[in-house]
Amino acid sequence: MSQAGSNATSAPRLVIAGGGLAGLSLALALKQALGDSLGVVMCDPALQRDPHGDTRAFAIAAAARRMLEAIGIWHKVAPKAQPILDMVITDSRLQDPVRPTFLTFEGEVGEGEAFAHMVTAGDLTVALIAACETSGVDLRAEAVESFQTRAAHTDVKLAGGEILPAALLVAADGGRSRLREQAGIGWISWPYGQSGIVATILHERDHEGRAVEHFLPSGPFAILPLKSETLVDGTVKHRSSIVWSERTENVAGLLEADSADLLTELERRFGLQLGRIAFETPPYAYPLSFGVARSFVGDRLALLGDAAHVIHPIAGQGLNLGLHDAAALAEIVADAMRLGQDPGSGEVLEAYERARRTDITAMGLVTDGLNRLFSNDWLPVRLVRDLGLGVVDRMPALKRFFIREAAGLTTREPPRLLKGEKL
Ligand SMILES: Cc1cc2nc3c(=O)[nH]c(=O)nc-3n(C[C@H](O)[C@H](O)[C@H](O)COP(=O)(O)OP(=O)(O)OC[C@H]3O[C@@H](n4cnc5c(N)ncnc54)[C@H](O)[C@@H]3O)c2cc1C
Repeated sequence: MSQAGSNATSAPRLVIAGGGLAGLSLALALKQALGDSLGVVMCDPALQRDPHGDTRAFAIAAAARRMLEAIGIWHKVAPKAQPILDMVITDSRLQDPVRPTFLTFEGEVGEGEAFAHMVTAGDLTVALIAACETSGVDLRAEAVESFQTRAAHTDVKLAGGEILPAALLVAADGGRSRLREQAGIGWISWPYGQSGIVATILHERDHEGRAVEHFLPSGPFAILPLKSETLVDGTVKHRSSIVWSERTENVAGLLEADSADLLTELERRFGLQLGRIAFETPPYAYPLSFGVARSFVGDRLALLGDAAHVIHPIAGQGLNLGLHDAAALAEIVADAMRLGQDPGSGEVLEAYERARRTDITAMGLVTDGLNRLFSNDWLPVRLVRDLGLGVVDRMPALKRFFIREAAGLTTREPPRLLKGEKL
């Protein structure tokens, strides 16, 4: 590789555009693995924002949690993480007086290991940025504006005009990735006509670590347990995160309704099992769509996380896929560099494409199919799916398989980080 893709100390340089959770995890994993032999620059104007301004919470699957453990992050977020101890699935219409339980899962994949934990975006981001800083990742609160591929490197232009020659540019700039567009990589996508309303809900009673997914005709409504907080006066704040999928044409009306009406609509879906409820954070709606890049790589370019794939949140797997991308790319780049290879070479990028294509396509199709199957009020479809859920509920081995799938533990030959091993 030419000197051009190198930093001042002549080590090759890798630039990551996008400091979401996928981009930050990759930066940290690579810096820890390769130290001074790779310059890692992370660019994102959002790095100057307060990470706790993002009130979303994610279900982090067991495999992704093992990765966070391997890169030294998990012990920082664990005290605030809520393990999902069991899961209940119901299938009904909004007006039905009772919601029969069709399927229950116990949440452990191994001795004392939950299949997923709920963690807030703010807690994860704070821990990752701090660890990136101490590990020597060069953090720039600036956007990547464009890039120009040369013979043996790529020139990455930042919004302020600086040009960083890099051996590899990673586009982790989200579902509407400008860099993917600039590279001319096609995007196969379709809208779901649904939006995901996200909020944190306070409730009177303890959720006991239970996650609930109500399949309703307008889309799935998930109640995901968050860690309770004990206040100085000894009272306990019980809270859960909701992901309320609703037809997009209804969302503006719902969010513009006065707060009492919105709360009534929420109560119709949330139910009364946890006592009285209130919004802790204002609801925020995300339009839902499916999208997958025709290729995850270009010349000296790799797509990571939502820049490569956007899926329906029905199974809470979008970020988990992005962390899986980060684990795979970090391993491929680290192994190649230890063999003296160019981290932006065609071989490295092809290996990344091969490692991720099947898993991403499979998860995209499964979540798409589940959403179509369950956001459907046609009686024959409802009967067949409820019969299916009832059958699965009586098959412990199949349930164990599904829970290991949700935990991200069924991938053949997973990257080392997802097994909790260091690079
Ligand atoms: C309603 C809902 C619920 C969800 N729940 C879950 C869940 O429970 N579990 C789960 O695994 N997933 C979940 N997901 C999916 C998850 O939110 C995403 O997959 C994940 O946040 C994507 O992370 P990312 O780092 O790839 O991208 P993003 O978080 O979108 O980050 C992209 C970053 O790139 C930056 N950026 C943009 N352009 C540039 C540029 N030119 N230069 C530099 N930086 C740039 C942005 O500022 C941003 O910080 C959910 C999604 C939705 C919509």
